[in-house]
Amino acid sequence: MMYKTHLAFAVLVSLIIFKFFSIENKIIFAGVLYFASLVPDLDIPKSWISKKTKVFSWIFRLFFRHRGILHSVYPAFIVFFLLSSVDQKVLAVAFLLGYLSHLFSDAMTIKGVRLFHPLLRMRFAGIVKTGGLMERLFFLGLILLNILLIV
Ligand SMILES: [Zn+2]
Repeated sequence: MMYKTHLAFAVLVSLIIFKFFSIENKIIFAGVLYFASLVPDLDIPKSWISKKTKVFSWIFRLFFRHRGILHSVYPAFIVFFLLSSVDQKVLAVAFLLGYLSHLFSDAMTIKGVRLFHPLLRMRFAGIVKTGGLMERLFFLGLILLNILLIV
């Protein structure tokens, strides 16, 4: 999926969380959630986040191939446990939700994701072509939902 779709989905997740839970610092929570929703695409050279973090993403890509370990659930839970261990449980949840929102929306694409790579080869895939008409419609739907939740 395109970065703007990931962001729109992350915004939806944050708005739903803010509806049901009282989060003390919403801006930091949302910032971490939105950032985490883009992190998995550090393994794509032409992704928005890779262009913004050139050297960092280049180093990352030396070790991780596209839709490999960065598109599995493990990094989300590793960061979750690291942040939790230093008493940042709210930020840990924000990171986990953002990261999983990325994986969930990539699982709707034709290419799909291997959520438990490399332990399991099982691929979760859908029918959406990245950048195609269905993704654009999904993006518009997300924008509409976000506006409805804000007003
Ligand atoms: Zn991705």
